[in-house]
Amino acid sequence: MPTYRRYPLRLVRGEGLRVFDDAGRAYLDFAAGIAAVPLGHGHPRWLEAVHAQLDRLVHVSNLYATGPQEELAERLRELAGFGLVFLSNSGAESNEAALKIVRRYGRPRGRLQVVALDGSFHGRTFATLAATGQPDKRAPFEPLGGATFVPPNDLDALDEAVDETTAAILVEPVLGEGGIVPLEPRYLEAARRLSDERGALLVFDEVQTGVGRCGSWFAFQRSGVRPDVFTLAKGLANGLPIGATVAAETLAFGPGEHASTFGGGPVPCAGALAVLGAIEEEGLLENARVQGERLAAGLDRALEDAGLPGRTRGLGLLLGAPVGTGEGPPKAGTVVRALMARGFLATEAGGDVVRCTPPLTVDGATVDSFVDAFDEALAASLQPAEASA
Ligand SMILES: *Cc1c(COP(=O)(O)O)cnc(C)c1O
Repeated sequence: MPTYRRYPLRLVRGEGLRVFDDAGRAYLDFAAGIAAVPLGHGHPRWLEAVHAQLDRLVHVSNLYATGPQEELAERLRELAGFGLVFLSNSGAESNEAALKIVRRYGRPRGRLQVVALDGSFHGRTFATLAATGQPDKRAPFEPLGGATFVPPNDLDALDEAVDETTAAILVEPVLGEGGIVPLEPRYLEAARRLSDERGALLVFDEVQTGVGRCGSWFAFQRSGVRPDVFTLAKGLANGLPIGATVAAETLAFGPGEHASTFGGGPVPCAGALAVLGAIEEEGLLENARVQGERLAAGLDRALEDAGLPGRTRGLGLLLGAPVGTGEGPPKAGTVVRALMARGFLATEAGGDVVRCTPPLTVDGATVDSFVDAFDEALAASLQPAEASA
């Protein structure tokens, strides 16, 4: 189906920070899927773990226990410092499970509503789309319902929205698809306090922010605000399909209340364990913070050079450079294409933002080369000739 608006690029191979197209041309990959390849392509430790698990056992369903699943759940619980884990296959599924937990919690007291944010993205299934604050994505599928939307970082609007019908507040600590909008620490603190005072749950969608992307295992650890439920997916298994829903023990599903045929399969779980192991042993949380600061500073210099008013937003290596001039049509797509022409991949995010999410293994010299290319791409994009090409 013609579902995806694709870039004119056919990719055939990946190696470390690079991918190669069908003409053998190399691209430095600051997209990394959509923030889904934290170790880079073909990381030796990850490859070895996945190959070994493929040889040993691939699938037996969840009617039986398997080692990698138990080990991954235990590891996630350790890293989070709380919770029980349900494993699935994607971000939408991990949020779907979170929303079922929320419904199960709120229903006995007639609380069926979720308060979510304008510009948020939680997935494409019915329940997750209903909680996604992007009218254009929702429109063809209305009526959806079940969610109230408030602007991010607006304390008064949140205070007004959370009432006796609210089962949960659902937020991304940094809005990803919505244009890389970090929630302020005091906003997250207020969300925690309001949830507690008014009998609602606090749910963090960490599908994009989690697994080291923001310079800590999970973004909530940088804010110090602990949610009742959080979700992971994208980077967790370095490109293999997986999702995880971590919930306080008191919120756990009972037997038969939720399930997945493939969820928590041995191969993606082995891949995820290799990701967590490599992040720890290679100091990638620290690297995400250090290289993130270097990249943000470089992108800001380039924005200034180009005379653009916006400044880079984000946390760790989840960064967005707003390239809009405030006038005329959005430029992010033009800049991304100009980068591609120079051998660099990045992605677009809402609100006219060029999103940079390189592997967490990225080094300073590579960051600098991306910044140089971004500087050139901006200059080229702001000239009408290449912009219309
Ligand atoms: C990508 C994303 C999702 C959806 O994940 P899928 O694996 O595509 O279903 C949900 N929430 C956030 C924050 C995301 O970035």
